[in-house]
Amino acid sequence: VDNQGLDVYFQPLMNLSDLTVHGFEALVRWIHPEKGVISAFHFIPLAEDAGLTPKIDRMVLQRTCAKVRDLNNTIFADRPAAAHVNLSPTSIRQNDFVKNLATDLAESGLNPEHLVLEITEGVMMQDVEQAASRLRAIKSLGVRLALDDFGTGYSSLSYLRSFPVDVVKIDKLFVDEIETDEGASALVQAILRLGLGLTFEVVAEGIETQEQMKSLLDLGCLYGQGYYLAHPLSSPDLAEFLEKVRQPS
Ligand code: C2E
Ligand code: MG
Ligand code: MG
Repeated sequence: VDNQGLDVYFQPLMNLSDLTVHGFEALVRWIHPEKGVISAFHFIPLAEDAGLTPKIDRMVLQRTCAKVRDLNNTIFADRPAAAHVNLSPTSIRQNDFVKNLATDLAESGLNPEHLVLEITEGVMMQDVEQAASRLRAIKSLGVRLALDDFGTGYSSLSYLRSFPVDVVKIDKLFVDEIETDEGASALVQAILRLGLGLTFEVVAEGIETQEQMKSLLDLGCLYGQGYYLAHPLSSPDLAEFLEKVRQPS
């Protein structure tokens, strides 16, 4: 962290019906001198145990706000993209979290409505009341909240009422089996009905094939991300990607 060995990659979130860009999820990478690019999956859990995620998450937040502000001031001026940033439970529990978030947002100049903070139900694990009040304070800044990895943890349904969320992300686990397993398909349908009924935006994660995308569209899922659509991209690769996708004006 201190040696600036971390980089931020951006995975496009796409509108599944017209394949336009809906937003970008920031995914942190460790650029290791010998091992190369290391995914968050391999070091975020360790960083969380070591108490390093507040520092990492703030760096990612600042860089992402600046990046998406620039995009929204230029090529996305007509249809602003959403900046999705992952937050660890420890980050959110920091006493100065809301104050720092307000400062970083103001300094970036990104419209708060274009920031989506992705949280998992792990945030609720300790003190539900305290967590819910923290989330309300975050929302009072005008930013939106997404519930990540939806459907994988415990009693997600009851959390949906305490979490003031705007976006629900269907975990890759269900997308993987959407064509082969009737149960998975039924669960996706149920999450969509529930999410859309509660007026959440629903995003499917980990779409790897055209068939999966088609099944999701048929079930009424409007947004998604995954290797089939675009990988997490370094800044130079993102610029190249954006050259290729033409936004309808
Ligand atoms: P997540 O937020 O659910 O992110 C989705 C993960 O799935 C990412 O892994 C992404 O690279 C990967 N992915 C996307 N599309 C596909 C696909 O089609 N197939 C497959 N197999 N994988 C796909 P990544 O980047 O390793 O991140 C893992 C987790 O680490 C994230 O899960 C998130 O919970 C956490 N994370 C990532 N960046 C940050 C960060 O800046 N701060 C914190 N606190 N956590 C982060
Ligand atoms: Mg996420
Ligand atoms: Mg996820």
